[in-house]
Amino acid sequence: MMYFITTINLVMEFIMVAKNMNDLVSLCKRRGFVFPSGEIYGGLKGTYDYGPLGVELKNNLKKAWWKAFIFDRDDFEGLDSAILGNKLIFKHSGHESTFTDPLVDCRECKQRMRADKLKTPGVCDFCGSKNLTEPRDFNLMMRVNVGPVVDENSYAYLRPETAQGIFVNFKNVLDSTSKKVPFGIAQIGKSFRNEITPGNFIFRVREFEQMEAEFFVKPGEDEKWHEYWIAERRKWWLKQGLSEENLKFEVHDKSDLAHYAKACTDIVYQFPHGLEELEGIANRTDFDLGSHTKDAENLGVKAKVLENKDSSSKLSYTDPYTKETYVPYVIEPSAGVDRGMLAILNEAYTEETLDNGDTRIVLKLKPHLAPVKVAVLPLAKNNEKLMETAEEIKNKIKMLGIGKVVLETSGNVGKAYRKHDEIGTPLCITIDFETLEKEPATVTIRDRDTMSQIRLPVSEVLNYVSNFFKYV
Ligand code: ATP
Repeated sequence: MMYFITTINLVMEFIMVAKNMNDLVSLCKRRGFVFPSGEIYGGLKGTYDYGPLGVELKNNLKKAWWKAFIFDRDDFEGLDSAILGNKLIFKHSGHESTFTDPLVDCRECKQRMRADKLKTPGVCDFCGSKNLTEPRDFNLMMRVNVGPVVDENSYAYLRPETAQGIFVNFKNVLDSTSKKVPFGIAQIGKSFRNEITPGNFIFRVREFEQMEAEFFVKPGEDEKWHEYWIAERRKWWLKQGLSEENLKFEVHDKSDLAHYAKACTDIVYQFPHGLEELEGIANRTDFDLGSHTKDAENLGVKAKVLENKDSSSKLSYTDPYTKETYVPYVIEPSAGVDRGMLAILNEAYTEETLDNGDTRIVLKLKPHLAPVKVAVLPLAKNNEKLMETAEEIKNKIKMLGIGKVVLETSGNVGKAYRKHDEIGTPLCITIDFETLEKEPATVTIRDRDTMSQIRLPVSEVLNYVSNFFKYV
């Protein structure tokens, strides 16, 4: 390999400033990651639109999750179930009766809050008054009318989690793929919750995406698999660039468990607004399949489930070797895409002071997550040959299929570097006059994090780039 090192900007004073949510919100708006939804009409609380760079980052995160579950493993299948759900799904899942948050109103300032999330129990977060109403249960599910007749029976629910779509398809997937327990079904998709207090940017919203995996295991082996998934999921978040010191576990008290769970450990992250849940990993026992199956009483379901006269399917599994029939237990790692993206942006956001006193903002995203992978910069926009060569190199890199590759023609090279630092583009390739004049033709490749540049023959660029973006 033939590298000629140039030393530009290598020396710098390195400072990471404390981040706050405003820095992230402002960067996201300025550079086109996230916009408040319907902003020109005053917005809609708890909803956001993902802009040109946001959709890339989000897609890259989802791709990394899909790869980990579906492509890298042999024991998982994927699914994409409907967002609209038959109300019976949510009757039997327990959501109609128990998917609630405790709501309190402040009699003084009229604000509404979640009783379990008050900064000081019994005290209004907004005005400090203790004059609060008794907590009332508030169901978080969103109802929609379906079909031409609007009456009490024509409604369905926008799913509040993707998981139920997996449980009601358990038999379909099992029969069509001949999977053997233990095995999992994974899906990524939108969920909707009528949150009482949406807030903290994309942390708590009313429309969001989840990445959920349901891993079906033999009863008795559930605790071992629960531990396994807690460790696996932590490793995966570290691979996405979250740091050890910002990632913690929170084990739920028995009294704090959801109605279906035997145990739950949250992976919590140090968000700019506090240490909060990023992903929940629950041992859901046989509650879910047991609730949706017909004939639960004869299948030895251990969880407390209501009688189900609506289901037409037996959601049990028969071991092909021992012929034993049982309703599998479920271990569920359930992560939020939007919260994941916020954590990743928070972790990557860095402000540095350079040796010449300038500051730069740089998003130190892992290369596989970066919205733009490579920017190709022609040194002069008014030179036809430079532009042509840059266009040609850009098109060749695009053919590698690594993601978004752009020809950057706005501003001078210095400004272009700053822009691409700020949106996290790992590599900038500059086409200059040496590229045209010298043999062999060379380009410079600048690394986002170190700002070091190397000169490389054009013939080696594709190899270099594809090695750089290899993600395992
Ligand atoms: P919280 O206690 O913060 O309300 P939860 O325990 O209700 O969250 P789960 O039902 O376990 O959340 O959902 C799994 C994941 O889905 C969460 O870990 C989170 O990443 C994501 N999630 C849940 N609710 C929201 C929301 N309103 N906005 C964004 N992401 C969410």
